[in-house]
Amino acid sequence: MQSFFGKSVYKGIVLGPVVVLKNTDSQVRRKKIEDVESEKQRIEQARKQAIKQLEALYEKAVKEVGEASAAIFDVHRMMIEDEDYLDAIDNMIKTEKVNAEYAVAVTGDHFSEMFARMDDDYMKARAADTAILARMMNIPALIGVPLNPEEIKTGMQAVVDGFNGEVIFEPTAELRERTMQRIAEEKEKLQLLQTLKGKESITLDGRKVHLYANIGSVDDLGYVLENDAEGIGLFRSEFLYLGRNDFPTEEEQFQAYKQVLQVMAEKKVIIRTLDIGADKQVDYFHLEKEENPAMGYRAIRICLKQPDIFKTQLRALFRAAVFGNLSIMYPMIISVEEVERIYEIVHEVQRDLEKSQIPYRIPEQGIMIETPAAVMISDELAQMVDFFSIGTNDLTQYTLAIDRQNEKLNDFYNPHHKAILKMIQMVAEHAHQHDKWVGICGELGADPELTEDFLRMGIDELSVAPSMILRLRKEIREMHATEDEKN
Ligand code: PEP
Ligand code: MG
Repeated sequence: MQSFFGKSVYKGIVLGPVVVLKNTDSQVRRKKIEDVESEKQRIEQARKQAIKQLEALYEKAVKEVGEASAAIFDVHRMMIEDEDYLDAIDNMIKTEKVNAEYAVAVTGDHFSEMFARMDDDYMKARAADTAILARMMNIPALIGVPLNPEEIKTGMQAVVDGFNGEVIFEPTAELRERTMQRIAEEKEKLQLLQTLKGKESITLDGRKVHLYANIGSVDDLGYVLENDAEGIGLFRSEFLYLGRNDFPTEEEQFQAYKQVLQVMAEKKVIIRTLDIGADKQVDYFHLEKEENPAMGYRAIRICLKQPDIFKTQLRALFRAAVFGNLSIMYPMIISVEEVERIYEIVHEVQRDLEKSQIPYRIPEQGIMIETPAAVMISDELAQMVDFFSIGTNDLTQYTLAIDRQNEKLNDFYNPHHKAILKMIQMVAEHAHQHDKWVGICGELGADPELTEDFLRMGIDELSVAPSMILRLRKEIREMHATEDEKN
């Protein structure tokens, strides 16, 4: 028995025979294409051919080395049938007019990067195909294991323990038995939630709700797909501005937004414009120290006072919008005048892009409802915007007059406060009166105790931490959206 440690890329455990594989490198060139449809057909043909080849390889391998070893071919087949991956490839061909080979290679790299960013340790290691497959297919896997390839032979037995980051060759009978028990336990736990992937978030009486994910950086994107979120409901764009010495350029922002949209393919991605200030301070903004920063110079206020910063972000967003299903939303709104001023700036940006003949698209535009003022005038605001997203973190802070960061006030901080629930109800009614959709992207949206209430209020979308998606889907699928149906 010999054991080695490496970096775990998926926490699971498995026991089986070793298969040694060797990689060969190949290069792909980018070419501009005119005929998008024929390029998509090339993908489809190649995909069908690859599926046939992989099925043949699988059958052959099953006969020769058994089902467990043959599974790698099945995994490859499942990957080229993965809808997220295929949508992202199609989308790249369509929006960038590039050849199929290039779209496949770059999408592969994007997915690889995305999974590589899922945690810091792992980021340091190279993101290999194995790691992508592992995360995608829930396969226990390690990378960076200091093995001597000469000593490892196809056919040896091994335990891969992703929980401990350990691989053990030629395990003892006792360890094998213990491992089998752990495998059975893990399988049972995972099964329940995994069965909800690909299923609709729909109540027993047929009410559908969109379950989107909240993310704070591109690094979180892997979790969005892994947990089968239907889109991104809040992308806090501050990530681009934090942890650096100067403003991100338009090009840097454009590339980041475009990458997110391409990875998410046709799925909705709601990017919130800059919400800096208050708890999120950045030196190069040179914000003055304030007595009461939560009620101070922050978010849309900075954007409206320093429109050059805002315009750079809007240009990057509008240019990126061509590459996917982008919506944007504005934080900390308190008045109709602010929205009017935002639209003036949007038009200025649009005119500039037009003049320079730069491809762009004006995406769906919504606002965050996170101040009591916005709640009280939500009737008027609903007529001006495409959607509302309720930010219950700030809404609770401003309604209850409780600093959301002051732990001393935890006993007083009650996000289930009737005032908050009534406000959510009011906002939902106003949105629907004007045929606009309404979601919740604050923490409260992920509270399973309130899911049923929110659905009854008519909330159309819940945007929550990726890890909450499948749990909430389970709740939703077991509840009724209307009282009558339940009784
Ligand atoms: C909120 O206030 O509820 C919200 C989602 O925004 P943030 O937490 O980023 O302020
Ligand atoms: Mg907020």
